[in-house]
Amino acid sequence: MVKNDIRNIPGFSYTEIDGVVHKFLNGDNGHERWKEIYQRLDKIGARIKGLGYITDVSNVLHDIGEEDKGNALYHHSEKLAIAFGLIGTPEGTPIHVIKNLRICGDCHTVAKLISKAYDRVIIIRDRARFHQFEGGECSCQDYW
Ligand SMILES: [Zn+2]
Ligand SMILES: [Zn+2]
Repeated sequence: MVKNDIRNIPGFSYTEIDGVVHKFLNGDNGHERWKEIYQRLDKIGARIKGLGYITDVSNVLHDIGEEDKGNALYHHSEKLAIAFGLIGTPEGTPIHVIKNLRICGDCHTVAKLISKAYDRVIIIRDRARFHQFEGGECSCQDYW
């Protein structure tokens, strides 16, 4: 059983592919291709662990009151949107994501690593600013 705290603001992200807007909630399985998306996330996880990625659980604490916690960290909406972007667009295409809340540190780290591992530009506009991930770095220099 997953406990839901109604005080949490649900985090969600959008990405647009071929003129169609796809919306993802945290831990979402409402998308028609959600199985494929989660399979891809597993592959992404394995690949970026090879680049030294360790899930940063400290972000779970920082996000109190702002976003779902626990294992939802791994399935934050922007991760789903990025995974779907990798599935749904040709290699080399920049992936654009819009997020309603501030991106958490773990998603920020993951986005950097994906930009390097998959050689993709990832642009995330969160509540506060733009992040452009490229070659393992973000345009915000990790200040946000
Ligand atoms: Zn996150
Ligand atoms: Zn950034």
